[in-house]
Amino acid sequence: MTTKTDALMDFLDADLAQLESEGRRVKLRVVTGRQSPVSVVDGRKVVNLTSNNYLALTEHPRLIAAAKAAIDSHGVGTAAVRPIIGTQDVHLALEAKLAKFKGTESALVFQSGFTVNVACCQSLMSDPKDLLISDELNHASIIDGARLAKAARKVFAHKDMKALKDILESPEARGARRKMIVTDGVFSMDGDLAPLPEICELAEKYGAFIMVDDAHASGVMGENGRGTPSHFKVADRIQVSIGTLSKAVGAVGGYVAGQKRLIDYLVSTARPFTFSSSHPPSVIATCSAAIDVMLEEPERIQKLWDNAAHFKAGLKKLGFDTGMSETPITPVIVGDTKKAQEFSARLFEEGVFALAITFPIVARGKDRLRTIVSSGHTTKDLDFALEKFAKVGRALGLI
Ligand SMILES: *Cc1c(COP(=O)(O)O)cnc(C)c1O
Repeated sequence: MTTKTDALMDFLDADLAQLESEGRRVKLRVVTGRQSPVSVVDGRKVVNLTSNNYLALTEHPRLIAAAKAAIDSHGVGTAAVRPIIGTQDVHLALEAKLAKFKGTESALVFQSGFTVNVACCQSLMSDPKDLLISDELNHASIIDGARLAKAARKVFAHKDMKALKDILESPEARGARRKMIVTDGVFSMDGDLAPLPEICELAEKYGAFIMVDDAHASGVMGENGRGTPSHFKVADRIQVSIGTLSKAVGAVGGYVAGQKRLIDYLVSTARPFTFSSSHPPSVIATCSAAIDVMLEEPERIQKLWDNAAHFKAGLKKLGFDTGMSETPITPVIVGDTKKAQEFSARLFEEGVFALAITFPIVARGKDRLRTIVSSGHTTKDLDFALEKFAKVGRALGLI
């Protein structure tokens, strides 16, 4: 059957063509088999420098065994949201473990890091008299959470404490009912750290509370991977502590840790918690086993940092600009969209997968490849990647 005009198709075709012409149309890469530090992607074996699998837990035998055992004992799904009948004993056991891990009274698991950020912004900043204050480079989920919150919003220049202070001193902030400062712990594009001690000082001086999104710090920074508040020794000064279960933890999910009354409040008000179903028990058991591994195998975190130092030093020695990174996320700044895309494509041909991240995700002129090493890479893997970065980087005139 043909129709003369199709109101949806007509604009989708035009918009897809536009995306294509701007180099923004996404093509999905396909991993065959497990996602590992060296993976088969689109049929080619590559050193994988794109994943958030920091501790190589996606295929850890203990996590796999825990998932299988939970399926046998608890089934494959909950068929409900948490407040109805989607809370099994395993959900509460994981939350107790996460609270202990983070050193807080309580914790609450959400479907993803994205939803926990949206939920906390929306629930805690629920009135036009509230003020949500956000770093300009915060993650998209915080930006969307702020849009759904009824609060007024102010954005400060990246890590600019003078700008944050100016906002806190503004008449709007002085008249606000509640003030929440929100920041990523580790910024996901540059791998730099939020200045948490300074943010705590300002928050305490001006009567604000703090939400830290530690998606890229969970399992990476601080004692046994407890995150940036642990790294900076300010954990008891952060009121809303967010982590993901989707990155270093190796499965999927997000959580918030804090006082029991914060968790009680979110249980009653958080919309993604109330209206979207809970994790299957296998995922919960996987995450629980991951926390055990992080506590019992600290050598994984050490190896991650050793690998990051080795790779970063290698890139610098070759003459690449690795930006402001202080973590295993290392950008290789190229400065031009087309060149960044070509760099990534040619590395892939050579057996190295490093993603191009371009405008508008990063500022114009800051187009880059983003690399993330894993504890599972061998020195041989990393040296192979460095050799290819040198070869392609020279061919493109970048070094
Ligand atoms: C990845 C990421 C998220 C989203 O986490 P998911 O669990 O993948 O939904 C949130 N915040 C930051 C800073 C992230 O990097």
